[in-house]
Amino acid sequence: MTPPLVDPFGRAIRYVRVSVTDRCDYRCAYCMPEDMNFLPKRDVLSLEELDRLCSAFVRLGARKLRVTGGEPLVRREVMTLFRKLARHLDSGALDELTLTTNGSQLARFAAELADCGVRRINVSLDTLDPAKFRAVTRWGDLDQVLAGLEAAEAAGLKIKINAVALKGFNDEEAPDLVAWAHGRGFDLTFIEVMPLGAVERDRFDQFLPLTVLRASLERRFTLTASLHESGGPARYFDVAETGGRLGFITPLTHNFCERCNRVRLTSVGKLYLCLGHDAGVDLRALLRASPDDAPLEAAIRAAIRLKPEGHDFIVERTGSHASTARHMSETGG
Ligand code: SAM
Ligand code: SF4
Repeated sequence: MTPPLVDPFGRAIRYVRVSVTDRCDYRCAYCMPEDMNFLPKRDVLSLEELDRLCSAFVRLGARKLRVTGGEPLVRREVMTLFRKLARHLDSGALDELTLTTNGSQLARFAAELADCGVRRINVSLDTLDPAKFRAVTRWGDLDQVLAGLEAAEAAGLKIKINAVALKGFNDEEAPDLVAWAHGRGFDLTFIEVMPLGAVERDRFDQFLPLTVLRASLERRFTLTASLHESGGPARYFDVAETGGRLGFITPLTHNFCERCNRVRLTSVGKLYLCLGHDAGVDLRALLRASPDDAPLEAAIRAAIRLKPEGHDFIVERTGSHASTARHMSETGG
């Protein structure tokens, strides 16, 4: 196995998330403003360039690739990229090729994803109420996502639901979400909203600490700290009543950066070493300057040496600020 790149804090970088587009068919109220400005199309990497970039990371020891966005499944011909990347699964260079999606296009693509070697996917779903779903996504149709989930199940994909905890929105509904997800055999993870990019509302009005959510879940369920470890930021609990597993991702109330094993690539070829920092390294120019991958790999090695120790998000009534100018949809969630 290729030895991994190691950052200055001794963390092995085995995981790359790649945003294949910053565009989306939804406008989730915590993710982006309704009149979002997207990256210029001319700057966006071709699927061949994205494959070259991802493959450079695989050669440098990345074992897991997550395709994300924006909404990855709205990128035209995105399955061509999955098909190409699948060769790294076949060769054994990659352990996992996976996807984070809002589910809107899953009914169309689930079978083909499975055929490309995708085994598990994350689907984002914050509510099961059709009107609330439309309100939070602004443009989304819950039935379409539920049909997508069915298609994914039929294709044999293992599903994890990600729900952003939103104050006054899904706090009451959270126990029902747990019962629903576990009843369907899905894992479920709640995520604290992060101050990434500007949206219309103050982040303080959206932020629901998971400490509060957990207390409300414990009125209905018995949660026991789980031994399960995904290598990621989530902490897991077993839910006695459902037999399912519940994750909490708490970038604000409990920082997890010491275990960070990931970097993020944007659709315009910028490499971000941390979700919570604005500094990124442009790899597009190198990619387009020469077909030789050696300078690209050298730039990636140099960039990993710049990985910051961690993020420092703040959401307070008096001092909320966007930690980064860019939105989660640009960096890749
Ligand atoms: N469009 C796809 C989706 O929604 O799953 C993939 C990209 S989306 C940016 C990835 C994840 O980031 C989603 O689970 C979404 O809920 C989450 N997300 C977006 N903005 C966020 C924010 N400001 N704080 C926390 N999570 C956020
Ligand atoms: Fe689109 Fe995902 Fe952002 Fe929602 S969270 S607007 S689905 S990128």
